[in-house]
Amino acid sequence: MSAHTPEFDVCVIGSGAGGGPVAFRLAQAGYQVLVLEKGPWLKEEHFFKDELSCCRHSIFTPDLADEQHVLETRNEYGNWYSEATSQSGWNFWNGNMVGGSSNLMSGFFYRLKPQDFRLKSEFGAIEGANIEDWPISYDDLEPYYTLVESEVGVSGHAVAHAFAEPRSTKDFPQKPTAEHPIVKRIESACDALGYQPLPTPRAILSSPDKGRRSCEYSGFCGSYGCASGAKGSSRAALLDRAVESGKCHIWDNCKVNRLISGADGKVVEAEFVNAEEQVQRVSAKIFVVACQAVETSRLLLASVGPKHLKGLGNNHDQVGKNLLFSAGGAGSGDLPYADLDPESVKALQTRGPFVNRNLQEWYVIDDEALGGRVKGGTIDFLLRHPNALPQALPQKWDDDGNLLWGETLQKRIKSAISGQQTLNFEVFNDWLPTDNCFVSLDTSVKDRWNQPVAKVRLGYHEHDLKIGNYLADKAAGVLQQMGAKNINWSVSGSPPANLMAGGCRFGTDIETSVLDPDCRMHDCENLYVTDGSFMPTGGSVTYTWTIYANAFRVADKIIAAL
Ligand SMILES: Cc1cc2nc3c(=O)[nH]c(=O)nc-3n(C[C@H](O)[C@H](O)[C@H](O)COP(=O)(O)OP(=O)(O)OC[C@H]3O[C@@H](n4cnc5c(N)ncnc54)[C@H](O)[C@@H]3O)c2cc1C
Ligand code: SF4
Repeated sequence: MSAHTPEFDVCVIGSGAGGGPVAFRLAQAGYQVLVLEKGPWLKEEHFFKDELSCCRHSIFTPDLADEQHVLETRNEYGNWYSEATSQSGWNFWNGNMVGGSSNLMSGFFYRLKPQDFRLKSEFGAIEGANIEDWPISYDDLEPYYTLVESEVGVSGHAVAHAFAEPRSTKDFPQKPTAEHPIVKRIESACDALGYQPLPTPRAILSSPDKGRRSCEYSGFCGSYGCASGAKGSSRAALLDRAVESGKCHIWDNCKVNRLISGADGKVVEAEFVNAEEQVQRVSAKIFVVACQAVETSRLLLASVGPKHLKGLGNNHDQVGKNLLFSAGGAGSGDLPYADLDPESVKALQTRGPFVNRNLQEWYVIDDEALGGRVKGGTIDFLLRHPNALPQALPQKWDDDGNLLWGETLQKRIKSAISGQQTLNFEVFNDWLPTDNCFVSLDTSVKDRWNQPVAKVRLGYHEHDLKIGNYLADKAAGVLQQMGAKNINWSVSGSPPANLMAGGCRFGTDIETSVLDPDCRMHDCENLYVTDGSFMPTGGSVTYTWTIYANAFRVADKIIAAL
């Protein structure tokens, strides 16, 4: 064990939605904080919108030849089959930079609802699923959801509805962002069907706040960084201010390979490789891991020590278990301009403003077709991404699979891009935790620093698809009512890598959880985990507001412990 005084009060590993609030809050409270981040420190000026060089977020993630994953899926015979992502090309990374994936998120922001904290006691066990209630309630997290609204900046409008979560404030601190004219069509279709479309909160500033500019409606939120600073990334909203305090130090391009623990089981140092490829160590009183679910489990499993022979916190074989994604799927429908009057076409051609409408009518479903009362989910409406490339590329094939070129191809691309407005929807429901969705280490595949990579088994529960299809069918009904053509959707067990959680559940029992209710490791008193890994179940919404809120909550626990 290191004899010298730790260099920092707190060392946070990973600077995304789980790491930012801890660094911010601790620095605000006057503690010396170090953030170790494996990616570069990109700022507003680096987030250009060049579709060709930046065709979606792969420039913000590592080269798969250098760093990859091994993914295990079932083959056609039902057997598990593993393949390295450098072979399959399935990029399982999200954003690797200061601020993490929160730089690239679309910022659709949802609180969990009280039912999400007690899924097992409210809806009962489901065979083949490891459902557990959370050890805290919605009321414990509510003040922190509210804090995120003001510190990260969430715009929206609170309305009463059957599944509205209780709020301690009347409304959002930021009014909703500007709305696209298509919203009127969604609303009248929902009205005809007797549904209540709800305003979708966004982690996007509608007015300037705390030195950040408001949204400039580039439309390039999802998969791109924000050049105005309006998007509530961990970097723009929290870390920039933490650094200004003089108490928070960010060391970018520093990839932590392992945490070193002593004979008493406590972590003493983080060992990392810096930008110059030197292996270095740093000490702190408290360590916080926030590398995003898969990489957090990987780092803990790789960090063996005298009291942690199977990896940090893994004496009961729980690290990496019960990994979660957001279940559901996506769909779309076209509103061809040829079917509409010129005024409607002009309105639908508007670029910039958001749709910001969702349906939570079926957050809980009581339908005999699904076997009675079950947990449902959320339907979110959005316009297609303005990056023209993903729309243009598939046009090179005709309907019979022949390659097209010249004028035929030109016409086809023009019609796909400018012949209609396309309304997309996304469905979010619970990804039930199972024994077949977990992270382990693959010792035969190494990254460029010779460290074992994460192996991820990607099993899902059939129940997830049943609920996803139910919701997608309802969403498609709205598109139909709007008069949309080419309506289609896909709900599958293929996980969205950008929405992941679990792997280090919090709970009260060391046999079945990794962290205690404060997100401190049960058997390592100076280690906390604050990304989405702590979640035993994920709720039927996107996770990031909850990750932010919980990280603020844990920051207060750390301050109390220091
Ligand atoms: C395209 C896209 C769209 C999204 N849209 C939405 C949305 O609309 N709504 C929503 O709620 N969520 C959305 N998300 C998800 C959201 O970004 C994540 O839920 C959130 O950022 C997760 O926070 P995190 O702290 O777990 O991980 P991250 O924010 O990814 O942060 C983890 C950080 O840890 C770093 N790291 C990893 N390993 C190491 C290591 N060994 N050493 C040092 N650093 C390390 C990574 O480089 C990264 O910067 C989206 C994500 C993407 C990619
Ligand atoms: S639409 Fe607004 S929040 Fe999104 S990237 Fe553009 S400026 Fe930023």
